[in-house]
Amino acid sequence: MKFTDLGLNEHILRAINDQGYDTPTPVQEKAIPLILEGKDVLAGAQTGTGKTAGFTLPMLNLLANSPKPRGKRPVRGLILTPTRELAAQVAENVRDYGKYLPFKSMVIFGGVSINPQINNLKTGVDIIIATPGRLLDLMNQRAVDLTQVEFFVLDEADRMLDMGFIHDIKKILKVLPKTRQNLLFSATFSKEIKTLASGFLNDPSFVEVARTNETAAKVEQIVYPVDKGRKREMLTQLIRDNNWEQVLVFTRTKHMANRLAEQLDKDGISSSAIHGNKSQNARTKALAGFKAGKVKVLVATDIAARGIDIDQLSHVVNYELPNIAEDYVHRIGRTGRAGNSGQAVSLVCVDEHDYLRGIESLIKTRISQVQITGFTPDPSIKAEAIQNGRGGKRGGGGGGRGGNGGGGGNRNNARSGRSNEQRNRGQNSNGNSTRTPKPRGQRSRHSD
Ligand code: AMP
Repeated sequence: MKFTDLGLNEHILRAINDQGYDTPTPVQEKAIPLILEGKDVLAGAQTGTGKTAGFTLPMLNLLANSPKPRGKRPVRGLILTPTRELAAQVAENVRDYGKYLPFKSMVIFGGVSINPQINNLKTGVDIIIATPGRLLDLMNQRAVDLTQVEFFVLDEADRMLDMGFIHDIKKILKVLPKTRQNLLFSATFSKEIKTLASGFLNDPSFVEVARTNETAAKVEQIVYPVDKGRKREMLTQLIRDNNWEQVLVFTRTKHMANRLAEQLDKDGISSSAIHGNKSQNARTKALAGFKAGKVKVLVATDIAARGIDIDQLSHVVNYELPNIAEDYVHRIGRTGRAGNSGQAVSLVCVDEHDYLRGIESLIKTRISQVQITGFTPDPSIKAEAIQNGRGGKRGGGGGGRGGNGGGGGNRNNARSGRSNEQRNRGQNSNGNSTRTPKPRGQRSRHSD
């Protein structure tokens, strides 16, 4: 199938051509015709499958075809994403795909000054790409009117719920007009996602491109057993010996992300860290440096890395396995994107064997283990419990409504007596769990 077979208008086809896209990806092939028919769609697709174009192209087409509203431009398209990075990424795509159309789009997220956003909204905007927290703040200040939205997209819905955005989403849904088209994208489908979907999708068509929790087929996965204290040495050796040019490295905690980036830099491997305690500017700068090839290694926590889209990222390293098995799927989805092959490498110490079992049972695959000469683990080292994060000291959840300038992010917390971090972690104000325990491999997030 070709893009020209999908019924998209010439301006969009020209923009796709400029991007160098040849054929639609499976999610695009399935979702675009349904969306163009005006159907609500529930789509199971993870990042890297081309899902952004899958919803953006038909949205642009439909908005271009429907009568232009008179007077000041009302907001007609709304895309909600869980993180600032993903919002920025999607906004860039909307601009690229819509460059030959007369629409004005705008990205909205916290961590930056709200006034320029208010001023920009005053001039009239057709399409908004936003994280829920800042959008709600703008709604509360009556700076944005969403009553004429024709097209609503909830992107990465599973991550939205994971980050505690459910109440914000419900508040936003309440102000949208009843008649509109809705799309929900999610990599995984829990009971909560299904409940959310049934609450606002109208007789949706279901599109699925890869089985839930299936890891990207093109990604080669390897586990390298290693002692915890020798992981850095191993990583340095892997990067040097294999001449890896652009490596995304995951840690479980912000602290480790910082420390590792500093240490790698000292080893002569240029590195930056990206996580929720960094200012938005620092995060944007780190990402831009990495994308431009100025920095070889980007060390990231799970939430901060969400939505990072780098063409042809060849290597993802799990310096520490995630404590939530599903995060493994998201992490390795950063490589092998849109038809490219990739390699996901996990450095696994004895403490992490339980995490590894949880991941393997989720993806229903045994990941092959390769022992690197000189790094055979010391059998006398016994497994220790993993400390995720540092208790209640930290504040702010990653790319969401974090404490680092998320703007009004404490409103809900003041009422519930919980910090953002506790909200994200499913804890009450005493730090006790408010969720039922999940089986191994699906544990709650502990840190960003
Ligand atoms: P996404 O899943 O939306 O994050 O997209 C992943 C990557 O695939 C992005 O870098 C897109 O630019 C790229 N992409 C999207 N659609 C296509 C296509 N039809 N052909 C080639 N690359 C694509």
